[in-house]
Amino acid sequence: MSIVAVLEQRSGQWSRMSFETLAAAQQIAKQLNDTASAAVLGHGISALAQELASKQLAKVYAIEHELLKDYTPDAYSLALRQLVEQTKPSLLLFPHTYQVRDFLPKLATSLNKVAVSDVVGHRIENGKLVLVRQLFQGKVNVDMRFTADGPNFASLQAGAYRADQLAAGTAPVETVTPQISAADIRIRPLELFRESQRAVDLTAAELIVSVGRGIKEPENIALVQKLADALGAELAASRPICDAGWLPMERQVGSSGQTVAPKMYLAVGISGAIQHQVGMKGSRTVVAINKDANAPIFEIADYGIVGDLFQVVPELIDAVQKLKQ
Ligand SMILES: Cc1cc2nc3c(=O)[nH]c(=O)nc-3n(C[C@H](O)[C@H](O)[C@H](O)COP(=O)(O)OP(=O)(O)OC[C@H]3O[C@@H](n4cnc5c(N)ncnc54)[C@H](O)[C@@H]3O)c2cc1C
Repeated sequence: MSIVAVLEQRSGQWSRMSFETLAAAQQIAKQLNDTASAAVLGHGISALAQELASKQLAKVYAIEHELLKDYTPDAYSLALRQLVEQTKPSLLLFPHTYQVRDFLPKLATSLNKVAVSDVVGHRIENGKLVLVRQLFQGKVNVDMRFTADGPNFASLQAGAYRADQLAAGTAPVETVTPQISAADIRIRPLELFRESQRAVDLTAAELIVSVGRGIKEPENIALVQKLADALGAELAASRPICDAGWLPMERQVGSSGQTVAPKMYLAVGISGAIQHQVGMKGSRTVVAINKDANAPIFEIADYGIVGDLFQVVPELIDAVQKLKQ
């Protein structure tokens, strides 16, 4: 019985959420008196596997095959099914990325098992794992227990676990060569593209300044952009700002936008509707500027400034610029 964190890489670059998943696997394994291992799939991934060998893990599985060079759901689920059949882990954890959303249901179904998606936390009750996930756009938290024997599957939401809590150690690397043939793969990946040329990956941003309807006019966004620039932060927005076309959709945070987990999320003139909170409450530190002391954003803010953003933001820009001098 063991827990395996299946990590995501693309062209040799880790997905940041991979290390959150690895930290979760370590924590859950420790609490269940179990072992945690890691698996990475791809072609030419020995350097990545070696990087994992410096973590506190029972084993690192480097699943190597030239047909895993480019992601396809067929090859990934086939390779992982073989790993599961050979190593018989009790639980496999994945980061809740777009790629995982694509292949995890297929993998779980191929083994006649269920996958719990979008997990935001866990606890141990009577020696058993209870996973917490959200329903109705974050309005309700539900507890989920696996009643069937493993292997069980779960994907973890961005920001639910902290990568900086990863425990270091040494782990042996086992290279696994799955049986995959070209005939198993029914799609041919073409060149990767982003939705638009200026697409931004807010999920990777460490600092985010986010603007809401409190900004009133599109021309005023420049003020918040100036604050973001001073802090070296990405600019994001609530949905009305993107719906109005004041910022591109790729900058929207929330249930119908991106889910982000920066070190700091600074919400400027955002009320903190549940659909917005769903996308940012995994942030390490939330700072809010809002003129309404009863705005829901203050319920999840670590630091709050009740005031008019048109007074507060210029003062903040000044303060940040002075600190940098
Ligand atoms: C199915 C569905 C999906 C949705 N998906 C998303 C989503 O992905 N992301 C998202 O953000 N929303 C989403 N929404 C919309 C969501 O319900 C809210 O309407 C939206 O988040 C509100 O945006 P806001 O906070 O910018 O605006 P408002 O709720 O209008 O809040 C503006 C805030 O600015 C403050 N303010 C005004 N003037 C100033 C000033 N001068 N100084 C300081 N503060 C000021 C006000 O006090 C207020 O709190 C969704 C809704 C639905 C139904």
